[in-house]
Amino acid sequence: MLKLSPEADPMGAAIKAFHTKKKVERLRVLSSLFDEDEIPVSHLFRSIEEMPLLEQKALHIAKGRILDIGAGAGCHSLALQEMGKEVEAIDISELAVEVMQERGVKHVRVADLLDGQWSRQYDTLLLLMNGTGLAGRLRQLDNFLLRLKHLLAPQGQILLDSSDLRFIFENEEGNIDLAEGQDYYGEVDFQMKYGKIIGRPFHWLYLDFPTLQAAATRINLCAELIEENEEHAYLARLTHQL
Ligand code: SAH
Repeated sequence: MLKLSPEADPMGAAIKAFHTKKKVERLRVLSSLFDEDEIPVSHLFRSIEEMPLLEQKALHIAKGRILDIGAGAGCHSLALQEMGKEVEAIDISELAVEVMQERGVKHVRVADLLDGQWSRQYDTLLLLMNGTGLAGRLRQLDNFLLRLKHLLAPQGQILLDSSDLRFIFENEEGNIDLAEGQDYYGEVDFQMKYGKIIGRPFHWLYLDFPTLQAAATRINLCAELIEENEEHAYLARLTHQL
């Protein structure tokens, strides 16, 4: 199982420092597409009111037994608990899981979505803050969705968000100019740094809705666009085909 131990986990270290009120350094993000950037660590601790509307919407329609996948500092799990909903959180980061426990997330454990044994299915699978990212690459998308499908109860729903990066690559004629070596415009490589802690580079997938929908259809899931915003982000719901 993929597990992030503290010495290789910049985001976990940032989460831990913020939670324990230590001096928080910059969580730096290097990428193949964007200039060096940073994630404001406080964003990982956002309250319901501070969340993008797409996320608020997802929390409202989440129901039944919910699995918060890649839960980070636990902002969505805590919000769902406050709403009286039944949620379990998983993350590959040991530090993030420790912090979630300390913050009061009742059911939380270190687990890799893509690995491990699962003894149950869920009514809602929640993947927020660009949930399609966990698929890594477009060619891994079908397997990723199959994995989610196996975890999904018969009447269940997968709620995930992403951004469509088309606006960055589209030229004046409306065609896409891909970067060298790129198969699809939403494939980005990231690496995070927090002080001396340097994470391993990882693949991340930003996905346009029609491509998500086509992949879902291939494995007999139904994809529905719930909401989109002016920042090119959207929330989608996937369910079993009837
Ligand atoms: N959902 C949170 C955090 C998003 S960051 C939020 O919106 O604030 C993505 C998180 O996914 C990180 O905490 C990372 O450790 C976790 N993650 C990455 N790959 C994973 C995997 N295969 N299984 C479970 N969690 C994973």
